[in-house]
Amino acid sequence: MKVLVIGAGVIGLSTAYYLRTDGHDVTVVDSNSGAGTMASYANGGQLSYSYVAPLAGPGVLGKLPAWLLRADSPVRFSPSLDPDQWRWCLNFVRACSQRQSDLTTRRLLSLAMFSRALMHEFVACEPDIAFDYANSGKLVLHRDFASFDKACRLLDYQRTLGCEQQAMTADECIYAEPALAHMGRRLVGGIYTASEDSGDCYRFCVGLERRLRRAGVRFRFTTRINDLREDCTGRISAFAGREMLDAEQIVVAAGTASAALLRPLRIRLPLYPLKGYSLTVNVKSQAAAPSISVTDFQRKIVYARLGDRLRIAGMADLNGQRATIDPSRVATLRAEAEAMFPEVGHYASAEPWAGLRPATPAGTPILGRTRYRNLWLNVGHGALGFTLALGSGKGLADRISGREHKSDVDEFLL
Ligand SMILES: Cc1cc2nc3c(=O)[nH]c(=O)nc-3n(C[C@H](O)[C@H](O)[C@H](O)COP(=O)(O)OP(=O)(O)OC[C@H]3O[C@@H](n4cnc5c(N)ncnc54)[C@H](O)[C@@H]3O)c2cc1C
Repeated sequence: MKVLVIGAGVIGLSTAYYLRTDGHDVTVVDSNSGAGTMASYANGGQLSYSYVAPLAGPGVLGKLPAWLLRADSPVRFSPSLDPDQWRWCLNFVRACSQRQSDLTTRRLLSLAMFSRALMHEFVACEPDIAFDYANSGKLVLHRDFASFDKACRLLDYQRTLGCEQQAMTADECIYAEPALAHMGRRLVGGIYTASEDSGDCYRFCVGLERRLRRAGVRFRFTTRINDLREDCTGRISAFAGREMLDAEQIVVAAGTASAALLRPLRIRLPLYPLKGYSLTVNVKSQAAAPSISVTDFQRKIVYARLGDRLRIAGMADLNGQRATIDPSRVATLRAEAEAMFPEVGHYASAEPWAGLRPATPAGTPILGRTRYRNLWLNVGHGALGFTLALGSGKGLADRISGREHKSDVDEFLL
C-alpha cells in the first residue's frame, strides 16, 4: 500500500520504519528541511520506561499556586484569549484525580514496556544507527524527606507493574554516581532503576532517516501539508499547495501542528504545546559528569549523558504555539545544572534550545484510525515521545497492515 506519513519527528519516523518493514510503499513529508528538527531535536534524551506517571496527578493541583508564583518554577502559565488553552487547562484539572492518574500510569507503563523491548531489538538489529544509546540506568533524587518517603512507599506498587527499583540513601546515591558528590547534604535519597536507557533523539531521527532511505522510503522535506480534503467517496487526500500527494493511507504525526491540520475535518484533538527547555554542555571532565541519568524530582529537571555531552532539560510552560527561547528560563536551567554538576564543562557556551511537547491533558497519546477510513493518527506523546515512539509506531503499523491482534497499544486506539 502507498502510505504517506506527515511529520519526520521521532513518531513519524518510527511509524515509517515499521510500515516499511511490513512492505508498504512509504513517503515521509515534512515542512522543515530535515528530520527531527522540532520537538524531537534536543529533548531530555531519557528513555524513561518506568517513569511514565502523567503531570496530571492528585498532588499537582496543591503545588500549582506556589509554582505559578515563583519566577524559577518548573511550570509557568501565561493566560491568553486562546479558547484551546482554557479547554486544555480545564481537562487537565479534570484528569488530576487519583483514579485517572493511576489508570493513565498503568496504560502508559504497558506501552513503555512494549517500547523498551522494541528499542532493545532495534539497537541489536540496527548497529549502524549511532545515537549515543546507553543502558544508563536512572536515579531520581529527592531533596525532602516527605517526597522520598512517598517514593519509597510506591516501590512495592511499581514492582507489581514490572518496574524493578531500589531505594538508596544519599550516601548510596553518591556511591553509585560519584559526580553527585557535590550535592552532599542537599540530598535525602533517591530511587534507582537499572533498566532505564538514554540516547540522542535527534541523532536517532537522522540515523533512522538514512536507514529508511536505503530501504526505499521517499522523503520530501520543505513540503508543508496545508490541506486534508475529503472526496466524494469519503477518502482523505493530502495537499501541499495545489499538489495532491499520492497515497492510499495517510498517517498524521505532525506533533503540536496536528490539531490545526485536522480541525477543518472537524476532528478536535485535545493537544496543547507544553514548552520545555534544554541545555547541552560539552563534557570537559569525565569524572564530574554523571554516567547514570539523573532526575531532580523537586526541580523537575533531567540530566542525561549523551556520549561526550551532558543534556539538561526541564520546564513546562503553557504560553502558546511558539518555541521562542526565554533567556530567564535558560538562566534558571543553567543555575540548577551548575549547582548539581558544577565542574562538567563550560556552561557559558552550552547550547540552549526550546521545544513544544505535543501534550494531551491526561498525558495519553492518541493512536489509530479516525472516522475517515484512510486517515490515521499517531500524536500527543507529550513528555514521553522518544520513550514511546517505537511501541506507538509498531502498534499503528500493525493496524494499518491489518493485524488486529490484541496488543499494548489497544488502550490508546481511538
Ligand atoms: C524540553 C523537552 C524535553 C523532553 N525530554 C524527553 C525525554 O527525556 N524523553 C522522552 O521520551 N521525550 C522527551 N520529550 C518529548 C519528546 O521530545 C516529544 O514527545 C517528541 O519529540 C514528539 O515527537 P513528534 O514526532 O510527535 O513531534 P515533532 O518532533 O515535533 O515532529 C513533528 C514533525 O511534523 C512536521 N510538521 C508539522 N506540521 C506539518 C505539516 N503541516 N506538513 C508537514 N510536516 C509538518 C514538523 O516539521 C515536525 O518535524 C521532551 C520534550 C521537550 C520539549
